[in-house]
Amino acid sequence: MIHCRLLIDGQSVAASDAGIYEVFSPANGEIVGQAAAATIDDVNRAVAGAKKAFAAWSKETAWDRETILRKATAHVRSKAAEIGRLMALEQGKPLNQSVGEVSSSCDMIDYYAAEGVRIEGTINPTEKSGYHSWVTYQPVGVCVAISPWNYPVALLAWKLGPALAAGCTMVVKPSPVTPLCATAFGEALIEGGIPAGVIQVVTGPGPELGDMLVKHPDVKKVAMTGSSAVGKRLLESCAPQLKKVTLELGGHCPAIVCADADLDLAAQVIAYKGFRNGGQSCSSVNRVYAHRSVHDGLVSKLRGHAQRMTLGDGITDPSVDNGPMATAEARARVEAHVADALAHGATLICGGTRPGGDIFAKGNYYLPTILTGVTPEMRMMREETFGPVVPVAAFDDPDDAVNLANSTPWGLVSYLFTRDLATTFRASEALESGTICVNHGAVNTPYGPYEGWGDSGYGLELSRKSIFEYLKTKHIKLAL
Ligand code: NAD
Repeated sequence: MIHCRLLIDGQSVAASDAGIYEVFSPANGEIVGQAAAATIDDVNRAVAGAKKAFAAWSKETAWDRETILRKATAHVRSKAAEIGRLMALEQGKPLNQSVGEVSSSCDMIDYYAAEGVRIEGTINPTEKSGYHSWVTYQPVGVCVAISPWNYPVALLAWKLGPALAAGCTMVVKPSPVTPLCATAFGEALIEGGIPAGVIQVVTGPGPELGDMLVKHPDVKKVAMTGSSAVGKRLLESCAPQLKKVTLELGGHCPAIVCADADLDLAAQVIAYKGFRNGGQSCSSVNRVYAHRSVHDGLVSKLRGHAQRMTLGDGITDPSVDNGPMATAEARARVEAHVADALAHGATLICGGTRPGGDIFAKGNYYLPTILTGVTPEMRMMREETFGPVVPVAAFDDPDDAVNLANSTPWGLVSYLFTRDLATTFRASEALESGTICVNHGAVNTPYGPYEGWGDSGYGLELSRKSIFEYLKTKHIKLAL
């Protein structure tokens, strides 16, 4: 049994009232670990530790912070197998993918370590001689990072990287579903040389603990990834103190497959984005609009991909494509969405059920599923399914496809498959989302800003620009 404790002021400690909660395996329902359930006292200690550490960390030079961060990530890489195993155990992601997530999270922090030394201010020409004007940036202070369970380490690294490089300190609150790997990641960074108090990790029940943290008066910025409903609540909690807030929220990502698309490529990308990690990704393909002339060909290729996918316990078989879904509730929502679509006349092409066989009986497994004949009133076409389901609808006029793609309140990622440059430009400009992927599914790269439009977000993550989400701007004007 794995026990994970709070990380406060560089120390691994129990909750102040010794409270714990259990963490379950999504592959077999067994208890895999116990995590500390932080109290208000622990929150106060964690924020106080981060505040104390901020005084020194913010005064380090950006060059020194880069050296410290790179040394720490080198250490984390040496423990990627161990941390990845915890992720696979509690989240269900196959071991190879979990270990890959830990390594790529280190790359992300390194990207920001290098960007930290390029936070350049400006010197401005002034309206009157004798005036001198320059603009400079200062770290905001103690930040809180709140993360979901689907990419439990990567989505922390997206926040830790820019925050720490900018000179902020951070209290991390992982999802209660995945406390083990997130705490181990924080612990490894500290072992690798991040000074005490610069990173704190507090675990426990989401709404209560999250709410205590975001309302704490010494917390100056909150960065959260999660559902749109929780994001909106969190923004309200931060409003009275006018905190800086960054939210990366849910998605309902459309993919438009035009008549001239490379169908092999489109099917490969849609299957990868729709089914990978059990479809539990904000950038998962939630709806496909295929030109009527290629609809059947695309569906047949998608079915081939779905049926070739391997499912299993990614601990015992690290190279399976998909493990179980992370929670029983997540699978129940998928089942409800599929039942609703079928009741409203959709056609099941493949999947649509749990896999048979004893090895799957105790886990939250669900087969990769494809439906056709889907219509806008079906739940899966207007609510985030967050599961391995790809619904496909046919279109005749590309403008109609763009209008349908834009017909939800979300605006995270839109996928477009075409070989025509004019269509590429017209559709890319018309699609209402912060990211457009044309002929590929490599959504998140360190250099690309990731901004959710509409219900998908508030502010942005990734890219050099996200460092400025952790900085305050100061204009200094002198009259000499
Ligand atoms: P969730 O909204 O239930 O929880 C997210 C985090 O918020 C968790 O750590 C949770 O404990 C915490 N939380 C819950 N209530 C809170 C409150 N009142 N105050 C403060 N914190 C609170 O989301 P989830 O189920 O963990 O993750 C799935 C969701 O995350 C999906 O909607 C998915 O689209 C979204 N997501 C978005 C992105 C992105 O980059 N846009 C990436 C991954 C996941």
